[in-house]
Amino acid sequence: MRLVVLGPPGAGKGTQAQRLVERYSVPQLSTGEMLRAAVASGTKDGVAAKAIMDRGGLVPDDVVNWMVSDRIDQEDCRRGFVLDGYPRTVAQAEALTAMLEEKGAKLDAVIELQVEPARLIERMEKRVRDTLQAGGTVRSDDNSATFARRQEEYRQTAAPLLSYYRTRGELVQVDGMQGMDAVTQGIVRALSILESRRRN
Ligand code: AMP
Repeated sequence: MRLVVLGPPGAGKGTQAQRLVERYSVPQLSTGEMLRAAVASGTKDGVAAKAIMDRGGLVPDDVVNWMVSDRIDQEDCRRGFVLDGYPRTVAQAEALTAMLEEKGAKLDAVIELQVEPARLIERMEKRVRDTLQAGGTVRSDDNSATFARRQEEYRQTAAPLLSYYRTRGELVQVDGMQGMDAVTQGIVRALSILESRRRN
């Protein structure tokens, strides 16, 4: 199963991606996580990415395309993957299509989690509170100014990306405002509708 989970920051992409990973027994590939790992280990790409991430901008396409291409070549991705946070631009989507075509593969579906903007800031604030309560470290881009910038970034880039996948017949849109279990059920239902539409 090859899936992409899209949605604005705070929509619950990571949580839902994790659930899909368990359901379909494929790895979760999060470009945000990969970049944070690169930042933590101080690689050249990590150092360059940190400044961009801290101000809520997008890391250059070629950096993330290379990271994803390298990762999906690994053995554990042979049966599929759930991509979360990638692609974020049409150029990245085209690069992903090309990477998969090279392997004779294609995406099964692109899932967009739809959440109203006002709910997103509440979720980010809750994530910060929960992390602090658990004694963890808050992500350096989880603050109001950067979060607003990341929302704006999503609004600008999402429309052409969604239309790219809609045209390819790969897009499913799911209400992300419900509880976590209901969202997961919504995704599973949408995937089976897409699957049966393709069969008929
Ligand atoms: P995320 O964890 O997906 O919210 O990503 C955190 C930050 O990492 C984003 O705000 C971007 O700066 C960067 N990032 C993650 N994925 C991508 C991507 N596909 N393209 C460009 N930048 C990305």
